[in-house]
Amino acid sequence: MSQNIKNVKQVLLLCILLAGCASPQTRTPTIDNDNAEIETKKQQTLVVDDYVNNYKKLQLVTSRIVTNGADLCGDKVAGYYGFMWWNQNSLDSTLKEISKTAYNLGEVYTILSVPAGSPANKADLREGDVIVSINDWLVPIGVGSDKQLDQKILDYGKTLTPLQMTVLRNGINFKTTITPIKACDFKVHLVPDDVKNAYADGKSIVVYKGMMDFFKTDDEIALVVSHELAHNAMKHIDAKQKNAMVGGLLGLLLDIAAATAGVNTNGDFMRLGSGLSGNAYSVEFEQEADYVGLYFMKKANYDIDNAAAFWRRMAVNNSKAITMKTSHPTTPERFVAIEATVAEINAKVAKGEPLTPELKSKNKQEVQPNSNPDALPEIAPETITEPPSI
Ligand SMILES: [Zn+2]
Repeated sequence: MSQNIKNVKQVLLLCILLAGCASPQTRTPTIDNDNAEIETKKQQTLVVDDYVNNYKKLQLVTSRIVTNGADLCGDKVAGYYGFMWWNQNSLDSTLKEISKTAYNLGEVYTILSVPAGSPANKADLREGDVIVSINDWLVPIGVGSDKQLDQKILDYGKTLTPLQMTVLRNGINFKTTITPIKACDFKVHLVPDDVKNAYADGKSIVVYKGMMDFFKTDDEIALVVSHELAHNAMKHIDAKQKNAMVGGLLGLLLDIAAATAGVNTNGDFMRLGSGLSGNAYSVEFEQEADYVGLYFMKKANYDIDNAAAFWRRMAVNNSKAITMKTSHPTTPERFVAIEATVAEINAKVAKGEPLTPELKSKNKQEVQPNSNPDALPEIAPETITEPPSI
């Protein structure tokens, strides 16, 4: 049967079926396309507003944590200025056009967020200011200029160099100097997806919008940001990659041995070894991120007393995590361990002792995260499965 005849038959069959279908009985309002178009824009604007508000909230909490926790970040510290910028190309797809008109964005770089208490806030930099120059460097526009601007600020941050900023505010040039302070050198990003998850990739912290919607208080935001920061500060991703490499090598030897014996394993042993070893100590790393994370949280003066209760909420929301053993501890294990850590930290506060996590060895030292400053390759985010990989 030719494809055309087949298609015609299918259409005829569909018509017959539709004729037999029941149709609605009432006269619903006719949709005015123009009004629907206006409403579409309004709803998209609300989405951008919601993203921007959540972004600012996340930056404010992170700003407090990375600045107060600098001494727990080992060599991964840099000068922190405390301002975030964007332009018309910063958001993707439909949100791009909406952000452009709703926030009056162009090719130039506009200040999006200045967390309260940050160096930029103290220097009176404001949201909506347009960046003109930094230390006499005229900020370019066009393709690649965002990376240049990012790199410039990053370079100055490494040497704790103050930024002499010229910004355009209400059509007038405003000059100010931002003096950086030391902070953990990990940025936080907000992904505008309704996924309830967050992860650390060794270089930065990523929080999904769906996770922000789940948080009830700033303390809860701080709990998750601190946990992810602890993964980065303690170089867990680096350690996992090393474990995966060692396991992969052992597997490769088995593959070679099999090949010598005339068996083609297609590298199965290597993949198996790499996967198993990559997950080695996974639960322990999670426990450490919970433990060190609470220290980060307390140092930033967030309330840790309800931290354990967050895992009860996560359990209600995701009952599999109560009993399911994965790469993460179960929610009851997390609850109990966090209660114990909170008691430990509160006792230190009561005695006026420094807020330094306890090491395994009896020899008490500062927690020294691995001092290897090598940049890590980008890795894929933890797979988003149930339960979430926080
Ligand atoms: Zn984690």
